Amino acid sequence: MAEIIPGGYNDKNCEKNSAKYHTGKKCIEHNCNNPAGTAWSPYWCVDCNIKRIDNITEQFKAIQRKFVK
Ligand SMILES: [Zn+2]
Repeated sequence: MAEIIPGGYNDKNCEKNSAKYHTGKKCIEHNCNNPAGTAWSPYWCVDCNIKRIDNITEQFKAIQRKFVK
């Protein structure tokens, strides 16, 4: 689990994760019916957007580890 960044993508109380950014569509993630739209992307809901960015961050860390030897 990534640390919660205040005002960041994984801060669920942040204004950037509020209904203000909802597009009126549903999240594009399969089997997810949450309202889509955050300040980071119009396609994912808050929860899926957090998972998505956490995964990307993990992939970058893995790449970094390969180069820092
Ligand atoms: Zn979702």
